[in-house]
Amino acid sequence: MSGKSRRDFLKSTALIGAGVTGLSATAKASPKNILSEDRMGVLVDTTVCVGCRNCEWACKGAHDLLAGNLESYEDRKILETKRRPDHTALTVVNEYSPGKNSNLPIDVKVQCMHCDNPACVSACIVGAFSKHENGSVTWDTDMCIGCRYCMAACPFQVPAFEYDKALNPKIMKCDFCFDRTKEGKLPACVSICPVEALTYGSRTELVKIARDRIKKNPDRYVDHIFGEYEVGGTSWMYLANKDFAELDFPNLGKNPAPGVSESIQHGIFAYFVPPVSLYALLGGIMWISKRRKELDEEVK
Ligand code: SF4
Ligand code: SF4
Ligand code: SF4
Repeated sequence: MSGKSRRDFLKSTALIGAGVTGLSATAKASPKNILSEDRMGVLVDTTVCVGCRNCEWACKGAHDLLAGNLESYEDRKILETKRRPDHTALTVVNEYSPGKNSNLPIDVKVQCMHCDNPACVSACIVGAFSKHENGSVTWDTDMCIGCRYCMAACPFQVPAFEYDKALNPKIMKCDFCFDRTKEGKLPACVSICPVEALTYGSRTELVKIARDRIKKNPDRYVDHIFGEYEVGGTSWMYLANKDFAELDFPNLGKNPAPGVSESIQHGIFAYFVPPVSLYALLGGIMWISKRRKELDEEVK
């Protein structure tokens, strides 16, 4: 992720200072949340997905993660165990028993949903997460202090922590292939999908496509576009022929999750929960010192 300006740094410094001194300015700061009419998204049609896991392989390759041979992804034994995205795989595919009017298993690709009102953005006390105009939710590795509030706040349990790295562990998650899409390329997973189970486009258009598919094929789909309204809407949306709860999608309602995470932070700062605050304080001081040194060197 790209670095931030000196002004951003100073803003973050002020936020940490406010949190440390017991003021709840950090918790009350609005998330950087851009909801452009033209924001992009992906429609995942799980009735089309064949569970080939090419998307997993392409995603790793696009993010300098150990990917191995594509042929090794043909072994379907791994689909017998349910997995979550982690720091070694920003997207994973899980398999479920057939839904209505089908005898084929259902394969579901899982990654960050790129929420319209992202709880991770709201929860991050140093502003390391950002919602972009194109719909992506990204994070800045240099700003992250490893507090893991984002992990606690995310309603989809997506951000993963590099627990195996003793030095400078990072938060990892799908970044919607931000570097590729800003150059006009498709996200790597969308680009490789051999059966077009993933459709990349404007979110508004994707909702229309999804509604049209359901209307024209009522026997093929349940009448629900997951992500159209959940937690205030998400950039990634899903179609399926089975109740989403049976596919391990959380039942979240329509209200954005940031209110929840902001409440958590308000509680933390209002009552000054000692271990968490101390951790944030120490992390903040270390991060400020590191950035001051870097900026001083840049100025010289
Ligand atoms: S799914 Fe989680 S990590 Fe992704 S944007 Fe939403 S809150 Fe953030
Ligand atoms: S959009 Fe990019 S980062 Fe996200 S799952 Fe697809 S390939 Fe991975
Ligand atoms: S590449 Fe496409 S068909 Fe294959 S698992 Fe991923 S989404 Fe499904």
